[in-house]
Amino acid sequence: RELLGASSMTEERAMEAALRPKALSDFVGQQTVRRQLSLVLESSRIRGTASDHVLLSGPPGLGKTTLAMIIAAEMNAPLRISSGPAIQHAGDLAAILSSLTEGEVLFVDEIHRMSRPAEELLYMAMEDFRVDVIVGKGAGATSIPLELPPFTLVGATTRAGLLPGPLRDRFGFTGQLEFYSTEELELVLRRSSAMLEMNVASEGFAEIAGRSRGTPRIANRLLRRVRDWALVHRVDQVDRATAAEALEMYEVDERGLDRLDRSVLEALCLRFKGGPVGLSTLAVLVGEETETVETVAEPYLVREGLLARTPRGRVATDQAWRHLGLTPPDRHPD
Ligand code: ADP
Repeated sequence: RELLGASSMTEERAMEAALRPKALSDFVGQQTVRRQLSLVLESSRIRGTASDHVLLSGPPGLGKTTLAMIIAAEMNAPLRISSGPAIQHAGDLAAILSSLTEGEVLFVDEIHRMSRPAEELLYMAMEDFRVDVIVGKGAGATSIPLELPPFTLVGATTRAGLLPGPLRDRFGFTGQLEFYSTEELELVLRRSSAMLEMNVASEGFAEIAGRSRGTPRIANRLLRRVRDWALVHRVDQVDRATAAEALEMYEVDERGLDRLDRSVLEALCLRFKGGPVGLSTLAVLVGEETETVETVAEPYLVREGLLARTPRGRVATDQAWRHLGLTPPDRHPD
């Protein structure tokens, strides 16, 4: 997120490109999805056809784009990258689809943000490898059916629930990515630190991993901030204390919560006595879009046992109060 400054965005992209695992076997963690996906790909290799369409869902930074690239590499197929917000008109999508080659992998990031007309065009393309292209306007408009070569659509979304049912149903395989364990993030960090030529002690890795919000992208980002700190303070080897001190400075706390996470909890506890509060009210209070709170902050807070979703709204748990250094309120049984 923007939290750590836009100046590092270019470095982030360069590093992400360099660090992306190239094969399914190099991809850390996500055992279930990896195993299932590997079977889907192997089967399509044996059958000699394009693989079923794949939907990947999960919070940002867990490896959806990386997996799409791996799918193309494993299928020995070219990869085309686009995104929901970039496909606003059905014509945009028709142009992409009609230029695909046989077996090509089309990756559509944030696929839930595609426009409705484009989505409807996509249904037919996914199912029948065909699109109807509308030529002309008004009464003179005609639709020309266009055959497409078999291709594989890989869609990514921060939450599968944001997708309309008919679109979701057209994916042969859906992989739900989970947050990474600290041990898995340590593996990611070891690999990255070698690339950055950093000297990090084992406890240093553990400290950074523990603050990485279960997310490889954040782990790599925090590692670079620790590198900066070590460089400026002329620290030769990053140990636990160095890592902790550096990350405190960037307002990443010992549980990995960042400013947005904390402001969600603070809004809940301080303004609403812990809730329940509706999601959209919460989003307004922290100055974020509802979708951001729901798909970026909330999943991690829920996993950490700091926030609960109830039918009446979001509730801060006792742990959340304590995490903020506050005393949980006495609850009357009701
Ligand atoms: P998403 O598309 O889900 O937002 P990305 O695929 O762009 O996430 O991953 C963000 C970064 O995190 C990538 O640059 C990659 O280096 C790293 N990363 C993600 N998943 C893994 C993984 N399983 N193993 C190693 N690195 C990973």
